[in-house]
Amino acid sequence: MRVLLLGGTTEARQLAPMLRDLGHEVTVSLAGVTETPGDYGAPTRRGGFGGVGGLQHWLSEQRIDALIDATHPFADQMPSNAAQAAKALGLPRLRLCRPAWQAAPHWQQHASLVDAVSKIPADARVLATTGQDQLEPYCSRSDLMIWLRVIEDPGTLPAHIRVLRARPPFSIDEETDLLKSLGITNLTTKNSGGGRMKLDAADALGVKVHIIARPAPPPGPLVETSAGAVAWLKQVAPS
Ligand code: NAP
Repeated sequence: MRVLLLGGTTEARQLAPMLRDLGHEVTVSLAGVTETPGDYGAPTRRGGFGGVGGLQHWLSEQRIDALIDATHPFADQMPSNAAQAAKALGLPRLRLCRPAWQAAPHWQQHASLVDAVSKIPADARVLATTGQDQLEPYCSRSDLMIWLRVIEDPGTLPAHIRVLRARPPFSIDEETDLLKSLGITNLTTKNSGGGRMKLDAADALGVKVHIIARPAPPPGPLVETSAGAVAWLKQVAPS
């Protein structure tokens, strides 16, 4: 089958070679946010499609048979665009989204980053691991000392925000050393799921965890693993 795999995640990086080895023709699509994305072992395209209409056009032109949306659990727009375009064309579409972390009772859960940052007490020392797509809530809290951990350069930020450029994964020892050496008191994170090293390190050190809830996925089939996506594709493949 000719498959479009929407990537930008570890799961997509695992799935692309699996599909290729099963004989499918996979194209991986990346938003183009990361300068040097990891290797997917399959042909890759970069950049947006131009909304639902643009995606529909691309899918038809490339004669795609199935679409697997393995974008990040917090990708806001692409899952909905993928669902709409696939529906309009009658294409099978799957959402692949890793399981969320089971929140510990002592973590503070928030509906949004704005909510989370507003609840951090003044003078806290914060490790911000929520990415670089939404920085305004941090910028307006000059009463905090914030270390923002990001992959790409976020540009100029106010003096109370220091940038730590690093690419995951991080070991529990690395996370512990970082939290200790900076004297971190509060950690912000999206409920992305996956490795929980920063959470375990924070819990062990008594750092307060502020966790942001996931957006709901569009209705339709959803699996949590690459193996689940392979099984789904087998089901929808014409016999
Ligand atoms: P988004 O809000 O869902 O997408 C914004 C726009 O970027 C989309 O409308 C689409 O443009 C384009 N786009 C997104 N993913 C794309 C893909 N895989 N291929 C081609 N175009 C794509 O997503 P986002 O939160 O900005 O994230 C962008 C990318 O970074 C995603 O691929 C996601 O997997 C990855 N990522 C996001 C997060 C996060 O926390 N949000 C974390 C880690 C990785 P058009 O409408 O023009 O098609």
